[in-house]
Amino acid sequence: MRIGVPKEIKNHEYRVGLTPPSVAELVSAGHEVVVETNAGAGIDFEDSDYVAAGATILGTAKEVFAAADMIVKVKEPQPVEIAMLEPRHLLFTYLHLAPDPEQAKGLIASGATCIAYETVTAKDGSLPLLKPMSEVAGRMSVQVGAHYLEKEQGGRGVLLGGVPGVAPARVAILGGGVSGVNAAQMAVGMRADVTIYDISNARLAELDMFFSSQIKTAYASKAAIAAAVRQAHLVIGAVLVPGAAAPKLVTRDMLKTMKRGSVLVDIAIDQGGCFETSHPTTHSDPVFEVDGVIHYCVANMPGAVARTSAFALNNATLPFAMALANKGAEAAMKADPHLAAGLNISNGKVRYKAVADALGLPY
Ligand code: NAD
Repeated sequence: MRIGVPKEIKNHEYRVGLTPPSVAELVSAGHEVVVETNAGAGIDFEDSDYVAAGATILGTAKEVFAAADMIVKVKEPQPVEIAMLEPRHLLFTYLHLAPDPEQAKGLIASGATCIAYETVTAKDGSLPLLKPMSEVAGRMSVQVGAHYLEKEQGGRGVLLGGVPGVAPARVAILGGGVSGVNAAQMAVGMRADVTIYDISNARLAELDMFFSSQIKTAYASKAAIAAAVRQAHLVIGAVLVPGAAAPKLVTRDMLKTMKRGSVLVDIAIDQGGCFETSHPTTHSDPVFEVDGVIHYCVANMPGAVARTSAFALNNATLPFAMALANKGAEAAMKADPHLAAGLNISNGKVRYKAVADALGLPY
């Protein structure tokens, strides 16, 4: 198959659909890969790296779309990209269509087959192409939290790990799923005093086994959360209720009880955030303060570590991209119902029920 990788054009997006090692895998399986010039330049993947991996470099996105049958991207296609899609194209990328009727309209009109990373499933029902980004955001939440606890950043002036003779900072992690566990691993590594709160008793039991005495676990009752935020130096919001807005676990009243200069990192901000006072921020202006508490609410945290994120995303997407390239979309989805779960739009119709319902379109 001819596979195309355009340069991402969304603001501040430096990741790229295929890394040079992924290109090499696809080329060695007999596929042809065309890459837009400078597609990975922002994270130091030079055109020469892609050429060494066996790709052909093309000057414009238009040429890439014209030459390729499958387009592999990271972010949802922007209007100029949608305009280049044709019925023969297979688009494999994050789409997040439910809140985006304009994009859905464009993709329906294109006639292309659109497979969304975020709805591909794994055997256990989890979402394998979202997982790497939750891992990144979880791990990053502790390093940004540690940074904003520094005095110069407006923080309380507390070192996460303490030192001999001085107690470590208290870190409360709300939600012990993928991002929560990854946050806990980093916080434990920095020798903070870590407690994870969740409403799944099964999950709490797993965490207890996994971390043993390195962390504490607690059922996420309102009272437990109120006590946690009162005492914590760093609170990390990592909850997810699939398909729903994040529950507001930390209310404005609770915030008033927090220590001045403590830090909230709301990873769940992409689902509306789990702190009542959260609103989305960007990497260029990541924090704001309410009641003396620093809020970090960047909705695309992995973008800050785009090189790591591009590799992590490719580790997860490559097996599916390979199956699509080897078998073609129809046969690959027939062979793998988990990949088929990624189909959102084809032949001018919405093929994913939740998206159709959210947009009020026929399914
Ligand atoms: P996950 O499904 O792996 O884990 C969520 C956990 O939250 C589960 O263990 C669940 O039991 C728990 N939970 C649900 N309701 C709860 C409640 N009321 N109290 C306490 N715990 C509760 O999800 P994840 O992959 O870790 O993702 C978490 C959030 O982070 C999602 O909203 C995801 O979209 C988001 N995310 C954001 C970024 C970013 O850049 N900001 C990046 C990646 C993921």
